[in-house]
Amino acid sequence: MIDQKKNPNSNSNLITIDKNSNVPLFGLDFLGVLDRATNVLEVKPITICNLHCKYCFVSAGDYERNFSIEKDYLVEWIKKAIDLKNCEDIEIHLAAYGEVLLYDELNELISDLRKISQIKTISMQSNGLLLNNKNINELEKAGLDRLNISLNSMDKEECADYCGVKKYNLEHLLKVFDLVLQSKIELLIAPVWFKGINDKGVLDVVKFVKNQEEKGYTWPKMRLGIQNYLTYRTGRKIKKARMREFIYFYKLLQKMEKEYKIKLKLGPKDFNIHKTIAIFPPVRLGDIKNVEIIMKGRWKNEYIAIFEEIWAVKVLSKEKIPIKKGIKVKFIKSSLRGNLLTAVPTR
Ligand code: SF4
Repeated sequence: MIDQKKNPNSNSNLITIDKNSNVPLFGLDFLGVLDRATNVLEVKPITICNLHCKYCFVSAGDYERNFSIEKDYLVEWIKKAIDLKNCEDIEIHLAAYGEVLLYDELNELISDLRKISQIKTISMQSNGLLLNNKNINELEKAGLDRLNISLNSMDKEECADYCGVKKYNLEHLLKVFDLVLQSKIELLIAPVWFKGINDKGVLDVVKFVKNQEEKGYTWPKMRLGIQNYLTYRTGRKIKKARMREFIYFYKLLQKMEKEYKIKLKLGPKDFNIHKTIAIFPPVRLGDIKNVEIIMKGRWKNEYIAIFEEIWAVKVLSKEKIPIKKGIKVKFIKSSLRGNLLTAVPTR
């Protein structure tokens, strides 16, 4: 296995997940295909990022080992997911635990997905800073429908601070927005609202989008999707920011919608999201089963195992586990919504 300690974010240090790796692409949160029992399949092809955001809920940039999925192998598993879901209007949402623009085969992946008849929409999340005229043209040509780009303030010093970098090229990002708006790709600007920290920043982003609307870029060509700041045990956190109750958050959005005459409350219907058959694993919480440990995961205490051929399981253990078959584990996370599997070794 490759030692990535020197530069965990370098593309050359990525562990490639392909057919020979044997890693199934259902079951992991950080890699592969994630189904939440709707027509949207979340696809996570890579785990590296060009930023180190203070609020990153997946702690991208801190992993000891990083992964990238070989394109044909990923497409094979996306097709498998679509067959299981029996749905004719699938959206593929590229939402990496990292920055998807660092994925070498991105254009080829989108082109291949475009040829699958059940896929009606291809969208992608990005921090936008690596976009330029050339790659926007390529993404448009490949068939990308929507880009969700994060922006938490209109002040570049504040953006740099939230994103954990010395310099944040806000001028470039604003040019990128213009280029996306001039292309066939829809643009969704997605600020995260850290209560008590970027209140002014979010308002400035609302005013910026309102201004764009007045220039003629209206829904759905341009959307604003303010996200409530949530913290997770394993994610990075902005020290003084507090989480907001969702009821309170939506009331605030409602108030701002009236004041600025702009759509801010977004729901599943706005993205044509509906319920579908779920791809769910044949285990329940607390079940004890045998798995095959095949490699180490992102963290020191994380392993990747195979369960029943099509499921990857995240096995957490402070003690070293041998890479071999027949390891008995107890499932501590198994859900119908999210098809994620986490387990711990047991005797
Ligand atoms: S929040 Fe997004 S852009 Fe920022 S470090 Fe995490 S994955 Fe990268």
